[in-house]
Amino acid sequence: MNRIAKLYFRYGTMGSAKTAMLLTTAYNFEERGLKYLCMKPIVDTREKASVIRSRIGIERECRWILNDSDLYLEIKSLLAESAADAPNWILVDEAQFLSAVQVDQLAAIVDDFAINVICYGLRTDFQGNLFEGARRLFEMADTIDEVKSTCTCGRKTIMNARIDADGKIITEGEQVMIGGNERYVACCRKCWRNKKLEKMGAAPTRPRPLNNDLTLIPWKPKTS
Ligand SMILES: [Zn+2]
Repeated sequence: MNRIAKLYFRYGTMGSAKTAMLLTTAYNFEERGLKYLCMKPIVDTREKASVIRSRIGIERECRWILNDSDLYLEIKSLLAESAADAPNWILVDEAQFLSAVQVDQLAAIVDDFAINVICYGLRTDFQGNLFEGARRLFEMADTIDEVKSTCTCGRKTIMNARIDADGKIITEGEQVMIGGNERYVACCRKCWRNKKLEKMGAAPTRPRPLNNDLTLIPWKPKTS
């Protein structure tokens, strides 16, 4: 049988329920009797329980991905142990923390073993730079979907602002902070810029009043 598998990347900002989506997908696989495997890059080595947990309270066991894990070899040896128990689907949480090499390994798993891989993760860090794993997934994935969520102002969130205990935006620091007091707020680019301007003591950019006449001009393709 010549099954066609795919590498999927589903990206969104923090709090866009990516992990909940992953767990719901896992649940659906269970209902349909499909074999799957959950995986997650380990960032904080103090983490003990190997589970993927969502804020809505559900969790599933997962296999940790270490910095130097060779995912291709791991899955190859799983298949060698028992092809019958091998997963048809692999679900990866926090995929932005994968290395580029590991994303390539996942792509090879899709192509060589016909196992579907769905990666859930962030697009960019707190400074708006692509994560390594996300960049490689944008380059390599067969299918890319955005998991959308809304900023407090109503626009779509695309940024992950790092915030200190006083609610002020943090603009400098390591890409990944472990064990600090900072937290993250997903927001649109405009609110992210305004938070930065506010921190610098500058006035936030004022929204331009909506011109209803302008919004009524229909877009027409160029004919020439
Ligand atoms: Zn906003």
